[in-house]
Amino acid sequence: MRLTPYAELRTRVLRESFSDASGRAVLRDADSNYVPISITERLVQAIWYDQRIQRENLATTDGCPLRVIFPGWWNVEAGPDFRHATVQFGDEPERKGDVEIHLRAGDWRQHRHDSDPRYNDVILHVVLWEAGADAISRTRAGMPVPQLALQHHLAAPLEALYDDIDLDSYPHGVRPHGGGCVNVMHQLAPLQVHSLLDHAGDERFANKTRKFIRWIHRAGPEQAFYEGWMEALGYKANKSAFRALAQRLPLALLAENRTVIAPLLFGVAGFLPTTASDDPFVKRLWKSWWKLRPDFEEKVLPDTAWRRAGIRPLNHPHRRLGAAAALLKKRPKLLENVLGSIESGGDPSKLFAQVRDEYWAQHCALGGKKQARPMELIGTLRAQQIVSNVVLPFLAACAEINSDPRLLEQVRARYTALPAGEPNTLLRLAGQQFFASDKEARTHLDTERRQQGMMQILLDFCVNDKSLCRNCRFPEMVACWRGQVRTPHAPREGEPGIGGSSRGA
Ligand code: SF4
Repeated sequence: MRLTPYAELRTRVLRESFSDASGRAVLRDADSNYVPISITERLVQAIWYDQRIQRENLATTDGCPLRVIFPGWWNVEAGPDFRHATVQFGDEPERKGDVEIHLRAGDWRQHRHDSDPRYNDVILHVVLWEAGADAISRTRAGMPVPQLALQHHLAAPLEALYDDIDLDSYPHGVRPHGGGCVNVMHQLAPLQVHSLLDHAGDERFANKTRKFIRWIHRAGPEQAFYEGWMEALGYKANKSAFRALAQRLPLALLAENRTVIAPLLFGVAGFLPTTASDDPFVKRLWKSWWKLRPDFEEKVLPDTAWRRAGIRPLNHPHRRLGAAAALLKKRPKLLENVLGSIESGGDPSKLFAQVRDEYWAQHCALGGKKQARPMELIGTLRAQQIVSNVVLPFLAACAEINSDPRLLEQVRARYTALPAGEPNTLLRLAGQQFFASDKEARTHLDTERRQQGMMQILLDFCVNDKSLCRNCRFPEMVACWRGQVRTPHAPREGEPGIGGSSRGA
């Protein structure tokens, strides 16, 4: 049977854009006719996702024994095909990272992954066919990426897998990794699901509270709060760099140097160019920084502390640091302000979202192109996340340390009432893993507390699971939960709530 004209055209067009996006194989139908089929990367992704391979005696193309402990989660966004995989090469310690799938080894270079920093964390390059295996795949950082050729390790002949796999269902419609989550979650009444998520959300909140209790004991409340919101401004990629900066430039030091906050921050971050800039703002920073530099030279962060690749221009670390400088300058009593806002029933997120800065309203990076339309410095959603992840757990920590049940109650009420934020990739994946559909997941993940609860369950169980769900104890825990929950939503008397002291610090 011939390919349809549509299939012929699609294959040709795909080949033109990515000449190796699909390949041909030939299989025999029941009447012994030879039938050409189109093998796509998506098919190989589905094979990898379901681990339809002979998992024993796997080896990389250079002969190193390989054990796949967890194939990773299907990535539906830009970047490598699978995230958070765990593998082991020979007797080495287990490695966690990303997995990229191709039809042939040479596709790595053809798709230019060797110059794309988003692929720097790939720990395994999985290809269907060995053709081109002589080309060693390397990350942009120059690291060689071990390669597995599936053609020798498939669990069934390729044509059988092709027939068996319904590609339309991947990744959203298929049963997640054989885990029993969907089944057990469906056995819970909606109120029981909400109760489980609420309690898990409280545990996540309590973890953050414990962290702030430690930080307050170490550095005092003002510095701990400052480190917390600085870390939050770093987003995922630059959290530790922002916190390191906050520790190298403590709040007390900045308070004594209020006129040079921005030059100090940008100078110690290592962001000020060593060559002359035409940008008047950069010139002004530099004019102050060169006088300060001798005293702060040893504190300057190395460039390797920062991650810029794969970050949206609006979240560029320069802009986020501009937001920090604006906050420090315009809200010298930020901690007092947020406390006042909580106590008076106000909205503390406005203290972050309403900060303005003329330069950063129009620039994404220092000395960068001026943008046509003004941009918010800290968006409303980001400001709400700072309240959820920093302000409230920090205040809960203060309430714990000072034995202040009134403040703890106010914080608890705020956290419980926070609306759901924009779901991130992990939450979307959780929707598939736990509820079988995004639509159903949204009906359960309808508050920030429940979203945080979902994250906690993912971290407690999925991230640590190395058995493709087979040995995971979460379904068992849910069954117990079902038997135990008597009054969903409202904690029973004496039961620890968020940041509750009975959880310990
Ligand atoms: S690892 Fe556990 S909790 Fe996560 S999807 Fe699998 S069975 Fe569910």
